[in-house]
Amino acid sequence: MDFDLSPELRALRHEVRAFVDERIIPAEAAIVAEDRERQYGTLRGLQAEARAAGLWTPHLPPEHGGRGLGIMGMCALFREMGRSPIGARVFHCDAPDQGNMDLLLSAASKSQQDRWLKPLCAGEITSTFCMTEPAPGAGADPSNLRTRATKDGDGWVIDGHKWYSTGGGDAAFLIVMARTSDDPRSGATMFLVDRHAEGVEHVRDIPVMAEPLLAHREAELRFHSVRVGDDAVLSAVGDGFRLAQKRLVPARLTHCMRWLGLAVRALDLCKQYISTRHSFGQVLARHQMIQKMIAENAAAIHAGNLMTFHCAWMIEQGKGTEARPYSSMAKNHVARTLLKVLDDAIQMHGGLGFSDDMPFAAWYRHSRAARIADGPDEVHDMVVARDYLTRGIELLV
Ligand SMILES: Cc1cc2nc3c(=O)[nH]c(=O)nc-3n(C[C@H](O)[C@H](O)[C@H](O)COP(=O)(O)OP(=O)(O)OC[C@H]3O[C@@H](n4cnc5c(N)ncnc54)[C@H](O)[C@@H]3O)c2cc1C
Repeated sequence: MDFDLSPELRALRHEVRAFVDERIIPAEAAIVAEDRERQYGTLRGLQAEARAAGLWTPHLPPEHGGRGLGIMGMCALFREMGRSPIGARVFHCDAPDQGNMDLLLSAASKSQQDRWLKPLCAGEITSTFCMTEPAPGAGADPSNLRTRATKDGDGWVIDGHKWYSTGGGDAAFLIVMARTSDDPRSGATMFLVDRHAEGVEHVRDIPVMAEPLLAHREAELRFHSVRVGDDAVLSAVGDGFRLAQKRLVPARLTHCMRWLGLAVRALDLCKQYISTRHSFGQVLARHQMIQKMIAENAAAIHAGNLMTFHCAWMIEQGKGTEARPYSSMAKNHVARTLLKVLDDAIQMHGGLGFSDDMPFAAWYRHSRAARIADGPDEVHDMVVARDYLTRGIELLV
């Protein structure tokens, strides 16, 4: 086992880290303030710098403007980008666009790629993944899918109701999961839908626990007899559930990478505070209960990092299906770790931690979704337990 990165990847990681530290973190407050006014000058400036530095969409193959890193390389870089909640957006590696790019790369036809993928990779447009529906539709259980696409002549008519379509208000196109038959395995199909097609209604951006940040506005959408051609079908009719799994396993892992970066930054901020703040005659860092929080969180981050790398390695070996329970374990572990680190960071900083003078409260509000989005904890635990009990999972890899 060799945990070293290649010299090229190490250098690249160093570049990304420096860019995040020197360019992005100092601009965070300005970007958040501009975003409230729907202004993006500072963000766009940094995106142009990232592009000029050759750090734009590094996960993509070179013919689409990237560096063809593969998922192991993504692990190395996305953790660094994740140290700022704005980092991934600057390098155009943020959810949901990044997962959508990967999906279109592997499943879209040439003409679909020309129409949607090219401008998406270039950062000219954004995209949205529409799977979840309000009750009684698809949520934790995708088999509840209610949005329906009905064959009509040389196309399809889509009717349905979606929510939590991240970025759906601003996106140029939507990847819409719809029922095309009642077959439990092949009953769903994905469609590429122009967000401004007739019949697509942006009902609202749902008010949520966290303030909206950049593309992370949670749209509610209705589809009123939206007509699309056969050329809107992604891959093939009936391929929806398979594609969803294909998209979700690596997409989940890229969340873990970004969350690990944020957890590390939060812990580093704690180090600064507890090394200088005194209580009861000594700096906080000398109190054993504080040391325990540091030690437990450091170990949890390290474990999550290894789980993420191991699962990424499996995917890189072509074992995407076998990787599924490992990705569930990693997702649950890293999401819970991030929340524990942030909660403990608030605790270690006392009143300062609870205030918005420090970023932990805002980060916590955003990060709480980690235990729900891309499948709630309980569903991932169900997958792990099922696979362990039925076909076995190699735990001592
Ligand atoms: C910030 C955010 C962004 C999102 N972005 C997107 C997006 O871009 N596109 C998209 O399609 N969706 C998105 N989602 C939706 C997300 O994937 C769903 O919220 C998630 O799959 C859960 O579905 P649900 O909310 O309908 O919960 P429900 O299905 O109503 O489940 C409610 C709760 O029941 C429990 N539960 C469910 N099943 C089980 C079980 N088997 N055993 C035990 N307990 C169980 C869990 O605690 C779960 O949280 C996003 C969600 C959030 C919060």
